[in-house]
Amino acid sequence: MSEAERPDFFSALSAAAVDPGAEIHIFEKSAHILSKVKISGGGRCNVTHACFDPKELVRFYPRGSRELLGPFHIWQPRHTVEWFESRGVALKTEADGRIFPISDSSETILDCLIESARDLGIQVHTKSAVREISRNEGPSFSISIDSTTNPVLRADKLVIATGGGVASGGLKMAQSLGHTITGLAPSLFTFHIEDARIQGLAGLSVPEVTVSSAALNLKQTGALLITHWGLSGPAVLKLSAWGARELAAQHYRFELCVNWTGSMTRDMAAALLENQRQSAGRKMLVSLCPFNLPRRIWERLITSAGIPHDLQYARLNRLQLTRLADELTASIFPVHGKSMNKEEFVTCGGVKLDEVDFKRMESRLVPHLHFAGEVLDIDGVTGGFNFQAAWTTGYIAGSSAAKSTA
Ligand SMILES: Cc1cc2nc3c(=O)[nH]c(=O)nc-3n(C[C@H](O)[C@H](O)[C@H](O)COP(=O)(O)OP(=O)(O)OC[C@H]3O[C@@H](n4cnc5c(N)ncnc54)[C@H](O)[C@@H]3O)c2cc1C
Repeated sequence: MSEAERPDFFSALSAAAVDPGAEIHIFEKSAHILSKVKISGGGRCNVTHACFDPKELVRFYPRGSRELLGPFHIWQPRHTVEWFESRGVALKTEADGRIFPISDSSETILDCLIESARDLGIQVHTKSAVREISRNEGPSFSISIDSTTNPVLRADKLVIATGGGVASGGLKMAQSLGHTITGLAPSLFTFHIEDARIQGLAGLSVPEVTVSSAALNLKQTGALLITHWGLSGPAVLKLSAWGARELAAQHYRFELCVNWTGSMTRDMAAALLENQRQSAGRKMLVSLCPFNLPRRIWERLITSAGIPHDLQYARLNRLQLTRLADELTASIFPVHGKSMNKEEFVTCGGVKLDEVDFKRMESRLVPHLHFAGEVLDIDGVTGGFNFQAAWTTGYIAGSSAAKSTA
């Protein structure tokens, strides 16, 4: 046996493309391969993002941004798009830059990967959890598998691509081979908030807000979505990603500040209200919102500022105006927990990055051991960036593993 690989289809496909003669195996512990691809992007699979400048692209990775710059010069979203399109998968770019198959079905991506593996003669073993890896002289690896047909296998090259969760055992095996695992914490989650200002408003969204925590030095801008449990949407998910470790340390209890206007200061919001007072004094506050907010949120903010709904702008006094400007630009919400985002969630933390040579995605400690995907201390924000990191590291891991034997 010349070569054995663990999951991450892409590394196996890339290895086979470089060295068609290599014997390549994928071991998958579950009964179904690529199960995360299947459920990804709400069943649509957000394959990558239309960001083709590596310097710009790395800015979407709270962890791994420095290390991914080189790899993105080798394999970036343009390559991902070309790879799928050259295999007959038509892709489309949505207004926000996310790229999906035109079919809007992850099955299209799944089928393409499975067919490509079949064409390249890659051997896929399901219900084959890898339990242990040890190094032999040579060097080579002995791999113990939970399988009656192939309990122990010898491999010259190994790619660990078991994903980010502790449950996979991949991190433990990397550790047993000498690697350090950095602190694990969930990333891309939504915030639990119980507050009269948002109660009963589930489903409403605001196109651009700024969410922040001064105490934790976190700030993000983007759309906000009110859910049954609290707040979600791109702004919240980005904050959860950039603050994954800080928020875990707080046990997800902290004060979230929401600027409903996006970027206005309190003085700017007050000036706009003052302007309304002078130009539309006879209008009731509730019927004229000079900010880009859904009417029901505007009503709640007026209530929260202690102002009667039927008050006319002309009768708004200085104190009320200041309170409303405060509420608009710095609403404080106590957060008391988190929920995972249904569309996409990832793990922050994993194999320590300075122990990996990113030119080959190879361990600096164990020759011929490669890593790809979320098992590394790499994660991105939502939008196709997590798959892109997996395609890129998978491509480099697989092709460089194969190059050294081809
Ligand atoms: C619900 C959801 C939706 C998502 N949607 C998107 C999206 O649309 N776009 C995007 O960019 N990202 C998305 N992500 C994130 C993305 O799926 C991951 O970042 C990506 O799949 C990581 O790839 P990976 O190969 O490292 O790990 P995984 O995809 O997790 O694959 C690891 C595989 O290894 C197997 N395995 C684990 N341990 C063992 C073992 N010991 N032996 C054998 N096999 C093992 C697992 O069963 C699994 O099949 C989503 C995540 C979730 C949870």
